[in-house]
Amino acid sequence: MNIKSGEDLLRLCAEEGLSLSEAACKYEMKKNDVTKEEVYEKMLFTYAQMKKSIQEGMKKKDSGYEIRGKMFKDYGMLMDEYIATKNAFLGERAARAVAYAVSVMEVNCSMGRVVASPTAGSCGVLPAAILSACETYELDDKKAVEGLLAAGIVGAIIARNASLSGARGGCQAEIGSASAMAAAAVVHMAEGTPKMSLDAASITFKNIMGLVCDPVAGLVEIPCVKRNGLGVLNALMSADMVLAGIESIIPFDEVVSAMDKVGRQMPESLRETSGGGIADTPTARKIEKEIYKKDWD
Ligand code: SF4
Repeated sequence: MNIKSGEDLLRLCAEEGLSLSEAACKYEMKKNDVTKEEVYEKMLFTYAQMKKSIQEGMKKKDSGYEIRGKMFKDYGMLMDEYIATKNAFLGERAARAVAYAVSVMEVNCSMGRVVASPTAGSCGVLPAAILSACETYELDDKKAVEGLLAAGIVGAIIARNASLSGARGGCQAEIGSASAMAAAAVVHMAEGTPKMSLDAASITFKNIMGLVCDPVAGLVEIPCVKRNGLGVLNALMSADMVLAGIESIIPFDEVVSAMDKVGRQMPESLRETSGGGIADTPTARKIEKEIYKKDWD
């Protein structure tokens, strides 16, 4: 079984009557010589860890957490408190998804355990989307695993044909890929077809194409944490558009290829070197000086 592209994936699903997660599971079984039960067991463990990181990140940070650059604190908790006011513009579900994503990033930034999905810098998006979908559609952990499998196969295709790394392709490759994977997963969990999942991934990518990687002081905090929060909204809304019947006119493989080309066209200063973008603003440079001065003292 050779799945090199979105087209290969759709063909396999059509020819063998497979859903996206079934195709992904089959791919995983073949690639790693494991049984279906072993695949599901591993993914259940992964999902449990994702949920744990959401819960841990939502707690107030006076209890042993130390964010490396100290550039933010308690974002998940603040969102949670705000949700309780019932004033959230996009409603509780959207605000909660953002709270989940930034919470996972708090755990990541304090050297806690997270699931890189696909990278540590983008680890908030997929858990937030999967848990939100489970809550919205009242789905169990098995469905969450199916969502993760769908996300995984989409991520594998992106990695093969472009990149998942901010250093190579800018933030579009990192938060963009996480969000595209999340969009595909949510559509799958909502009983969308494989083509609809890839359309949602394409729409998500198109909305983030060109985003540069510009972490302040070289630490994955600003603007990364907030981009995780907004990445999940991009994914959920793209999923909603597709579930409403909107298609991506440009096929997934062409969108991934365009994203890869844009990444290659980006100057080095905008690919995780902290040489440009937000990292090169006066305030960012001041923060950087303060952090490293303290480290050298
Ligand atoms: S700005 Fe760079 S380091 Fe931060 S999340 Fe995006 S790709 Fe990762």
